[in-house]
Amino acid sequence: MATTKVKGIIIENKDYKEKDILATIYTVELGKVRALFKGVKGEKAKMKAHKNIFTFAEFVLENTKGNNIVSQVDLIEGFYNLSQDLDKFYEACSIVDIVKKLGNEQSDPVFFLEFVKALKNLNYSVVLKNITLIKFLINVFKGAGYPINFSECASCKAKITGKKYFNLDFGEIVCGNCRKNTSFEITPLIFSCLKIINQTPYEKLKSIKINDEGITDSLILLSDNFEWRFGCKFFIA
Ligand SMILES: [Zn+2]
Repeated sequence: MATTKVKGIIIENKDYKEKDILATIYTVELGKVRALFKGVKGEKAKMKAHKNIFTFAEFVLENTKGNNIVSQVDLIEGFYNLSQDLDKFYEACSIVDIVKKLGNEQSDPVFFLEFVKALKNLNYSVVLKNITLIKFLINVFKGAGYPINFSECASCKAKITGKKYFNLDFGEIVCGNCRKNTSFEITPLIFSCLKIINQTPYEKLKSIKINDEGITDSLILLSDNFEWRFGCKFFIA
């Protein structure tokens, strides 16, 4: 029986047999890991509170017959506020779904840290709805090799002064001369919304004031870009 200790966040949990829960944990060391919480559905179960989605902890896993069984949980952060506020909850679900879709069975500490920063900000700060999600997405694109440049045309490198276009083929902002069939114009509102969120660190996102339209339209653009880059959609409430 091999014992492994991992640090991770629960991103999914499903009923398994009568009394167990099968969880997917996104870990620093191993990427996505599936693990069983045995007998945790009862009122008095020892790890009852630590099987929930968003739980950030150090998990001890015992590997028996090819299955990981959780034998110990040392809580790092419960992110309890996320389940107390419906808007925060749905936004956190979008972030978790992105990790579910893009995370694989390999360690990616940079992506993991980005995930933690986003959940932490959402849990502790009062930020306008979906701004944390937009910040997370911009950084996810950057980490995956599709950075969005807000100062110059991604194609000809000229400073963009006039109309701006988003080229879905490459997930980049281009000028009028470099636009292609798969480019569409980005409104000044979307451009400034994305630009300001991009240059603001997580801990200062709470100071950003943007109207609902700017946030909604920016999220639609990033969601389209996500589908073009990764071939799937993520959950948006
Ligand atoms: Zn250009």
